[in-house]
Amino acid sequence: MVTGRKQFSLVKESDLQLMATTQYNTFLSENKVLSSSNSKDAAAVDRVGARIANSITKYYNSHGKGLVLEGYKWEFNTIASKDVNAWCMPGGKVVVYSGLLPVTQNETALAIVMGHEIAHSIAKHGNERMSQAMVQQMGGLALEVALAQKPKETQELFLLSYGIGSQVGAMLPWSRQQETEADKFGLIYAAMAGYNPLEAIPFWQRMSSVSGANPPEFLSTHPSDETRIRNLKQFMPEALKYYTPHN
Ligand SMILES: [Zn+2]
Repeated sequence: MVTGRKQFSLVKESDLQLMATTQYNTFLSENKVLSSSNSKDAAAVDRVGARIANSITKYYNSHGKGLVLEGYKWEFNTIASKDVNAWCMPGGKVVVYSGLLPVTQNETALAIVMGHEIAHSIAKHGNERMSQAMVQQMGGLALEVALAQKPKETQELFLLSYGIGSQVGAMLPWSRQQETEADKFGLIYAAMAGYNPLEAIPFWQRMSSVSGANPPEFLSTHPSDETRIRNLKQFMPEALKYYTPHN
């Protein structure tokens, strides 16, 4: 509905949203969550998240596409971590790692990367990855059966499908097509929320100098930086149509 291409889906998005609620709360209980009342990073994440969520909800509803966000119950949290990372589970459950903030440097760049993660979620990219993994590693079992028979493995596949793996080398390969779609729709979502999409160019250039043993999903496909920047420049005129600066 968003990507305009046929997508492979073995699992129901509503089942994944249900699973996300549990997995999100477990993740938060195992990490140090920063409060927006005494962390300016968490306050920025909350502010940017609320703006993006509000503007895309308004947009899809007013264009008769409210179903795109069916079941969404947005949550935004920031955890204390040196890792440069962020992700969005099904249903709008977002986590930003505080290690990302020194790279974003400003709220517009934060909106670019949060828009990117939210775009993966809305385009159901995690569902595609989870569906493929269920076929390849679980013999095509239904999600509820897999959860009953192999709960630990199934939960691990879920986390890996959404870029939340913690083991080096355990990541599922990311599709370049998904990455390009997330870049494109992420730009539009940031622009709709009043953030200048042009900031994406210097931001992804800053990001390209970040490296680590266990890269976040947005670096793990090792996209050629030039290809990414070239694609962003190509999307820019469309994204700018959605951009009105907020006050
Ligand atoms: Zn990505």
